[in-house]
Amino acid sequence: MMTGLLNECRTAFLDLLFPPKCAFCGRLLEKPGDVCEACEKNLPYREEGKILSAIGEEGFPCAVALYYEDMVRDGVRALKFGKKSWRARVFARYIAQAAAEQLGGDFDAVTFVPVSRRRNFQRGFDQARLLAEAAAKTWSVKAEPTLKKLRHTRAQSSLNDPEARKKNVKDVYAALHPDRVRGRRFLLIDDVCTTGSTMASAAGALMEAGAARVVCAALAGGHRKVDKPESQAEDFGKN
Ligand SMILES: [Zn+2]
Repeated sequence: MMTGLLNECRTAFLDLLFPPKCAFCGRLLEKPGDVCEACEKNLPYREEGKILSAIGEEGFPCAVALYYEDMVRDGVRALKFGKKSWRARVFARYIAQAAAEQLGGDFDAVTFVPVSRRRNFQRGFDQARLLAEAAAKTWSVKAEPTLKKLRHTRAQSSLNDPEARKKNVKDVYAALHPDRVRGRRFLLIDDVCTTGSTMASAAGALMEAGAARVVCAALAGGHRKVDKPESQAEDFGKN
């Protein structure tokens, strides 16, 4: 009884210090939760085609929960510009759900597309890793770091041409320890999957190291609206 009351007081006190906000739009929440009612109602779910057409020449399937627009874009930006692990936990829920629905049974290990050492040093964290760590809990496993980024690349968002994007990330990933990859089936997680070049390159590196299978999942990708060309899409985090 007393403990319950204390916990309630503690929660109320913390809410006063850090009022709960919507993970997507950042607005203060009126009710308990982590996504506001407006976002919950209007999130751009990828109802049709949650599998972003198989990516790369190898055709890795990629489950994508939401279109990369509006409040989803705002939420991803907010995640990148501050270590917001609560936000990663919320987003990971959407990733895990899309992966479970679309790719359940196709993997038994969870990993992520790493940022370069320089980017990791600048930011102090890797957003894809935070997402993978939170999503992996759904399957009671730990997200494993399996890849390293061999060089710093230009931001994919600065390149409009899909061929240039592909070239920019070609051969930039390699397995950290091939012996921990060999023969295993991975779910590879990233925050955004735009043209799929980054994801395909990282998935290819896992296959090269001997992975038995690689399937992918991202929080967001693509656009619903036809008036926004794909070339304006941004996945500026992977550089
Ligand atoms: Zn919201």
